[in-house]
Amino acid sequence: MDYLPFTRPFIDEETIQGVAEVLRSGWLATGPNVGAFEARLSGYLDGRIVKTFTSATGALEVALEICGIGPGDEVITPAMSFTATPNVIMRVGAKPVFVDVDLETRNIDLDSLEKAITKNTRAIMPVHFAGLAVDCDALYDIAKRHGLRVIEDAAHAIGTEWSGKRIGSFGDIVSFSFHPNKNMTTIEGGALSLSDRNEAAKLDQLRFHGIVKDDEGNQDVLLAGGKYNLSDVAARVGLGQLAHLDSFNEKRRSLAEHYLECWKLKDCVLPRNGEGHSWHMFAPLIPFDRYGVSRQHFIRRMHEKGIGIGIHYPALHLFSLYRSLGYRRGDFPNAERIGLETVTLPLFPMMEKNDIERVVNSISETIGS
Ligand SMILES: *Cc1c(COP(=O)(O)O)cnc(C)c1O
Repeated sequence: MDYLPFTRPFIDEETIQGVAEVLRSGWLATGPNVGAFEARLSGYLDGRIVKTFTSATGALEVALEICGIGPGDEVITPAMSFTATPNVIMRVGAKPVFVDVDLETRNIDLDSLEKAITKNTRAIMPVHFAGLAVDCDALYDIAKRHGLRVIEDAAHAIGTEWSGKRIGSFGDIVSFSFHPNKNMTTIEGGALSLSDRNEAAKLDQLRFHGIVKDDEGNQDVLLAGGKYNLSDVAARVGLGQLAHLDSFNEKRRSLAEHYLECWKLKDCVLPRNGEGHSWHMFAPLIPFDRYGVSRQHFIRRMHEKGIGIGIHYPALHLFSLYRSLGYRRGDFPNAERIGLETVTLPLFPMMEKNDIERVVNSISETIGS
């Protein structure tokens, strides 16, 4: 039987041909395809300003710079995410203030979030975990009452909707990732969606050496910008992917619902379904202790059966870097439990329902024996 990885990108033939044309054109770095890709993304997000980057990690770091966040500032973020989320807060010299997440939605707990606000808090960096939107009405209500910026880490959430509106089509600054594991890819890449023209102009400078040009083409450098511009090759991949995004996400949704329907193992915490979910991942919590099986053993046995399993993610505050800020075991019980019990099961648009049944049956065999 074919090996079933936990995720796998799909690039269609038209895109492969398109990439070959870009390679033959002689224009490989930022050019017409980046312009077209940003315009198409902007159309997808109800006309918001969209700026692409070489990664979401770079995009998030620049977003913090745009907000003027640095030493002495605190940014509130969930204790369970990919480590890029708090790392960028550290990179600009600010302090990540962790808050626990909900066991079922895996999203930041908004009551605890509000309690974590201090006089040094400048921004909130929530994550729409696995493609399920955070309650954006409650989130933006808190931000507004406390005068905080919001930088949404929507790396999992391109195509996700909140109250019928796409994530990134509203809100403050919203960051997407186009890494190959995400719901659409540019190989490596990311984008910010925002609405403030002055901030967008500053983003242009921060992502390309701080260079500005006047009407006659004379250059000036206004700030020590970085180098985060997407290539035209990557943008051409993105154009081909965006055309399929809604059907990819529709397929993900029906596959995830099939997992929920045919799940067998008892005492697991299954991920919450919800309106507008784009199902970037399907990650149940399995009580390995109760079953007397280690997660490593489970992953090895599933691999032997031709099924790839991921782990997304260990609790952030238990990494050495974050322990050095004073965080310790016991601080965020849900994040810690997720860190120990989570497994990411295969879910990608080219799968079929019988693949889901194969995974569910293999889990019962592995843990039952
Ligand atoms: C993938 C990911 C990122 C980083 O994206 P890159 O494009 O790889 O830099 C940030 N946050 C979360 C939650 C992610 O899953």
